[in-house]
Amino acid sequence: MQIENNKVVSINYHLTNEAGETLDTSEGREPLAYIQGHNNIIPGLEEELTGKSVGDKLKVVVSPEKAYGNYEEALLQVVPRESFQGVDNIEVGMQFQVNTPQGTQIIAVTKIEGDNITVDGNHPLAGQQLTFDVEVMDIRDASEEELSHGHVHGAGGHHH
Ligand code: ZN
Repeated sequence: MQIENNKVVSINYHLTNEAGETLDTSEGREPLAYIQGHNNIIPGLEEELTGKSVGDKLKVVVSPEKAYGNYEEALLQVVPRESFQGVDNIEVGMQFQVNTPQGTQIIAVTKIEGDNITVDGNHPLAGQQLTFDVEVMDIRDASEEELSHGHVHGAGGHHH
């Protein structure tokens, strides 16, 4: 069986940045399971996995455009402290979920100057070239239910 749309694919992976630092790994965990063609993983990785079979190992270098996007200065914003109602102590590194016309977004506090709070709406990995060492562990057909939910159920996926 080969990886194509609507297959549930389980992979072991090791993710490093340009400096060679490990950002994430499936080592010591169950493999990551995703549905091919459903935007479960970044486009650059999905593309390279197309047509691969169980046991295939590959090294994929993904540009920011096909990973988490370029870093956009426009997503940096300075907002007044009073817009954080109900938050007593605002600290650098805190993350908040906000609703925007484009959907839910995670913003992180990156700087605090008096009552001016700088927040960054970029993904933490925006602007980074990512290298994945991947091994394909399993490929199977997705169930109707998984396809309607858009994610994998069971091992390596959602439990509900
Ligand atoms: Zn589900």
